[in-house]
Amino acid sequence: MIAACSIAGSDSGGGAGIQADLKTFTAIGVWGLTVVTAVTAQNTREVRGSWMLPAEAVAAQIAAVCDDFSIGAFKTGMLGTREIVRTVAERLPEGIPLVVDPVMISTSGHRLLDEAAVLDLARFLIPRADVVTPNIPEAEALTGMAILSLDDMAEAGRRIIDLGAAAVVVKGGHGAGDGVTDMLVDAAGTVRLSGRRYPYAVHGSGCCFAAALAAYLARGMPLREAFASARSFVDGAIAAAAGESGSLRIVNPGG
Ligand code: PLP
Repeated sequence: MIAACSIAGSDSGGGAGIQADLKTFTAIGVWGLTVVTAVTAQNTREVRGSWMLPAEAVAAQIAAVCDDFSIGAFKTGMLGTREIVRTVAERLPEGIPLVVDPVMISTSGHRLLDEAAVLDLARFLIPRADVVTPNIPEAEALTGMAILSLDDMAEAGRRIIDLGAAAVVVKGGHGAGDGVTDMLVDAAGTVRLSGRRYPYAVHGSGCCFAAALAAYLARGMPLREAFASARSFVDGAIAAAAGESGSLRIVNPGG
C-alpha cells in the first residue's frame, strides 16, 4: 500500500494536525505515516499550550519512515520553530511530491509557527514544494499583500510561485460572502473551485484539505485533479458532519 507522511503537530482534540491527517489518509486509502513536531493541548474551543520536539527527534522520525516505507507524498503542517523548518527542508528526500501547508496561527489565535520562522519557511521549504496551501492570512504573511479579491488571490499565488513553489492553492475560507472559493495557481494559469460556506465554525479543515491533496498525489493523481478531489473531500466531510450533502461547484475548469 502506498503511504503518505504528515510532518505536523498533535491536536489532542483530534480535529486538526496529525490526527486529522491520519483520519484523512485512511479515508482516502493510503497508509498514514507521521513525523510529530509538537504536542498541543487543545480541544474544539482553544489551544491551551504547545510543546515543540527537538529538531533531532524530527530528523530521526523522517529517517525512520524513509528507510522503510514506499512514500508517495509528504505533507507538512505545524512546524513551530526555525530549527524544525530548516531540519525538515534539509532532511526531506528529493523526488517525492511535497504539500506545504504553511500553518501559522490557529483559528482560536494561538501561534503555531514562530514569527521569525516565516522567513525560513519562505526561503528553505517553499522552494521545495510541489504545492503550498495558504489560507488568506497566511498568503498575506508570505507575500506582504492585502488580499481583498479573487485577482489578489491569484497574484498572491503567483508571488508564492516566485518564491520557488511549483503551484499554490490559496484557500478562501477566511474571505467574506456566502460561498468559499479556493484558487489553484500553477505555471499554466488558475483554476477556481467554489462551494458553500457552512454556517458554523469548523476546526481543522485546512489540515484535512492539505492531507487529502497529499493522499491523492500519493495515489498518482495529477495536481489539478487532486485539487478538485481534495476540495470535494473536505466539502463532503463538513457536510456529512452536519448531516447535509456536499455543494461543490466548479467555476472555471481549466481557466
Ligand atoms: N493545531 C494543530 C496541531 C494544527 O496543525 C493546526 C492547523 O494546522 C491547528 C491546530 C489549527 O487548526 P484550526 O485553525 O483549524 O483551528
